[in-house]
Amino acid sequence: MSKRAIFPGSFDPIHNGHIDIARRAADIFDELIVCIYATPQKNLLFSFEERMEMAQRVFEDIPNITVEGYTGLTVDYARKIGAKVMVRGLRVFSDFDYEFRMALANKKLAPDIETVSLITTHQYTFVSSSTVKEVASLGGDVTGMVPTFVRDALMKKYLPA
Ligand code: ADP
Repeated sequence: MSKRAIFPGSFDPIHNGHIDIARRAADIFDELIVCIYATPQKNLLFSFEERMEMAQRVFEDIPNITVEGYTGLTVDYARKIGAKVMVRGLRVFSDFDYEFRMALANKKLAPDIETVSLITTHQYTFVSSSTVKEVASLGGDVTGMVPTFVRDALMKKYLPA
């Protein structure tokens, strides 16, 4: 049976740390679905459509990665599409606390679904969507943190009016 996994998140915007985790997960599992949460309880910079478009563009050349949007409980979405594994990324110890609690909560909600956490590649330890947005908003260079077209989209958002 083919092993299908999901990689859920807000991806506001997608960055090189996310891309690294997704590529590595796609080497482990037969199919990886990058699941973009439509309505997170966060202040978003990019719309759902923009976040979807950027992620689709990033992964268009990788045949076993697809991008989908979802709302509601992540475990419900995983079940709906027949995924038994949820991939998450870990950067620093402070991620661990949150991810540990989420994994336990999800296990309680859906004992049939496993969380698999991959440790970041060292050069992406400091990369997060919020850091990328903060640097870009202050006119800093985010090259190396995000693909070029995401950098351009960020620059456009923060262009002085
Ligand atoms: P969420 O809104 O669920 O926190 P994000 O879009 O911020 O989602 O991130 C999605 C996943 O990618 C999370 O598991 C997060 O820990 C992981 N992640 C984010 N940045 C990195 C990074 N630099 N290295 C590895 N994993 C990361």
